[in-house]
Amino acid sequence: MKLAVFSTKPYDKEYFDKFKKEYDIKISYFETSLKPNTANLTKDFDAVCVFVNDVMNKKTVEVIAKKGVKLIALRCAGFNNVDLDACKQNNIKVVRVPAYSPEAVAEHAMALILTLNRKTHKAYNRVREGNFSLTNLIGFNLHKKVVGVIGTGKIGAAFCNIAKGFGCEVLAYDINKNEELEKKGVQYVSLDALFNKSDVISLHCPLNQHTKHIVDKSSIGKMKKGVLLVNTSRGALVNTKDVIAGLKSKKIAFLGIDVYEQEENVFFNDLSESIIKDDLLMRLNSFPNVLITSHQAFFTREAMTEITTTTLNNIKEFENGEGLTNEVR
Ligand code: NAD
Repeated sequence: MKLAVFSTKPYDKEYFDKFKKEYDIKISYFETSLKPNTANLTKDFDAVCVFVNDVMNKKTVEVIAKKGVKLIALRCAGFNNVDLDACKQNNIKVVRVPAYSPEAVAEHAMALILTLNRKTHKAYNRVREGNFSLTNLIGFNLHKKVVGVIGTGKIGAAFCNIAKGFGCEVLAYDINKNEELEKKGVQYVSLDALFNKSDVISLHCPLNQHTKHIVDKSSIGKMKKGVLLVNTSRGALVNTKDVIAGLKSKKIAFLGIDVYEQEENVFFNDLSESIIKDDLLMRLNSFPNVLITSHQAFFTREAMTEITTTTLNNIKEFENGEGLTNEVR
């Protein structure tokens, strides 16, 4: 089995090299992402391994199919970047890592909330410069605040448990209710009621045609003034222009994002010596009450171990002609 790993970072190579010995898989690493104009690199490979920002559209899929690729192994949970119809038409199977560490993402969402609220990032810099003033560092108690969670699957459920631990009142919206969470006191409400009543809103639903721009001008209009909004799911759940307007009007008092709609050319890269051309991202970066992390919510040792071993097992199952436990249909 010959595998081409795209969008490879040093930590990807480190984890694949650590675990590959137990598998009969020959791995080649490519730093570039997989997209239509790099798809020719897949010649002679049986499988490709891709991440969140590889462009697995119809064009890419058609080219890799012609090159002989039979399997796309996503080393992530979300598959919104893959044209599944094109894969089916070209007889390419798709597998993913459905859950590697829901807690990693949920904990990062809470880290964004705590940092924005208690301003520990600002305090850290101040104190290191000998400034021990508390002016403008005031936050609010999370205890008894209303936290709205959109999407209560694996990550959303882990986040509900964390918020409950902080003594928050947790409201949830999902197309499928989680009875275990209800037993713990999480209350399912309509989307409008969630927008209306929440002091903090955290997004944990997948990106699809129903959830794209679930946060836009209209939903921001329904939110409480001073809301803290967090998105660790997918960038396009949020209409960036509308959120910027919400920040300017002070309707949104805090924004924490680990994902961004146009992140593919920016996130995961060191652009510190470059001129960044994305004006919306730069505008967001200029707000004192916005915290951006570069799609790192998943990034823990536990998650990387799970991602790597599940991906290698997914590929092994395919090679052995076994049923594919983690197939995306
Ligand atoms: P999951 O499939 O376990 O849960 C998703 C939940 O969303 C389900 O309960 C589903 O019913 C619900 N849902 C689907 N459509 C909805 C809708 N229209 N409105 C409300 N809820 C809806 O997935 P998960 O493992 O919890 O992951 C959630 C998302 O988190 C992924 O889709 C991915 O985009 C994102 N993610 C981000 C990172 C990161 O590092 N930032 C890492 C992993 C996953």
